Amino acid sequence: MSQAAIDTENLPYADGDFYAFEQLLTSKERDRLAEVRQFLAREVQPIAVDCWNRAEFPMDLIPKLAEIDLVSPVRRQGYSSLFAGLVHAEVTRADTSIATFMGVHDGLFTGSIEALASEEQKEAWLPDIYALRKVGAFGLTEPLGGSDVAGGTRTTARWDGDAWILSGAKRWIGNATFADWVVIYARDVADNQVKGFLVDTSLPGYGATKIENKISLRTVQNADITLDNVRVPGFFKLAGANSFRDVNKVLKVTRLAVAWQAVGQQLAAFDVARRYAVERFQFGRPLASFQLVQEQLVQILGNAVSSMGMMVRLSQLEDAGEAKDEQSALAKAFTTARMRESVALGRSILGGNGIVTDYGMAKIFADAEAVYSYEGTYEVNALVTGRAITGVSAIV
Ligand SMILES: Cc1cc2nc3c(=O)[nH]c(=O)nc-3n(C[C@H](O)[C@H](O)[C@H](O)COP(=O)(O)OP(=O)(O)OC[C@H]3O[C@@H](n4cnc5c(N)ncnc54)[C@H](O)[C@@H]3O)c2cc1C
Repeated sequence: MSQAAIDTENLPYADGDFYAFEQLLTSKERDRLAEVRQFLAREVQPIAVDCWNRAEFPMDLIPKLAEIDLVSPVRRQGYSSLFAGLVHAEVTRADTSIATFMGVHDGLFTGSIEALASEEQKEAWLPDIYALRKVGAFGLTEPLGGSDVAGGTRTTARWDGDAWILSGAKRWIGNATFADWVVIYARDVADNQVKGFLVDTSLPGYGATKIENKISLRTVQNADITLDNVRVPGFFKLAGANSFRDVNKVLKVTRLAVAWQAVGQQLAAFDVARRYAVERFQFGRPLASFQLVQEQLVQILGNAVSSMGMMVRLSQLEDAGEAKDEQSALAKAFTTARMRESVALGRSILGGNGIVTDYGMAKIFADAEAVYSYEGTYEVNALVTGRAITGVSAIV
């Protein structure tokens, strides 16, 4: 087979949307998605691998992200959850680290304020947050409290007449090396309940140290945070964050976003593996002409579109106000497991070139590991679902 036999520039199903789920969007949403895609191709894709290699966040991207106005598409801008999910998948497809930056600022941080702050607090904080004039982070996980953080939050909050005193440590907090504000969840020593606080990172006693040597999401700046008797004025306690049940209201929605990241990761793996398979020749033929390689590409596609189908329906349920915790949990567990399989297949299709970042696939492969484990690990989300279908908790 000659090289000219495959038109590598105009591959069919270029968007990977094999069952045309995008047709479920309104025409306004489709136009906006196209605009976001152009932005990502222009501003994110060209810098993604270099930032990842250097483990540096592109700070000059923040004003550009502000301009394209991606924060809070559902609650603020009135778009559907399906639209928000497809946009998040597209950002991930361009770069999972940038999607994680947005997932932390928008989903976890802004989501905490939107769901748990009073009207007065929202009025005071949200305009700067929506415009990315203030960048946010979300501090829940601790050095000794990961999967069990709900019952095991060790960071304490103590009311001291006119301010809360926060003490303790947080680990893995995305964006926290440069964030202006961090929502910190801490256990109130008075009633033992986990409560939420908006903490200004310039307050005395607050410290953040970058976690170095990561093999996944290297562009994301994760930090170890220390809180040494940080005095947080009373107004900065989130009015509606009074127990871990309230934190779960935020996590239910963000788990959905992470499942959409798993879709984006698989579309990215499909893009790179398919292009490589038609361009790379062995035995005088393109890799794509080998039956085993075609089957692997089809497996990636099948995984990606079945994950997408699940997410399309879950997004509809979310908009109808009917999505349940266990449905988000199953979506996160299932799509990330499929993602792990897909990126490994994609990595294999690139052979040796699959392990160097120059060819696009190694970054996707490595990033899958963090997505599999954060926002509730695969196992914990599986057990949340297992509890819902058996009535028996196997978590503790
Ligand atoms: C890149 C990255 C970004 C992150 N960003 C943030 C952030 O911005 N804010 C934040 O608060 N957190 C963040 N996290 C933390 C993340 O949510 C935790 O890593 C995750 O919840 C798992 O906790 P852990 O790492 O302590 O693992 P552990 O809880 O110690 O789990 C270790 C292993 O044991 C398994 N396990 C634990 N309990 C059980 C059980 N009952 N049954 C079966 N298996 C079990 C787990 O599934 C896992 O395989 C981030 C993590 C990463 C890696």
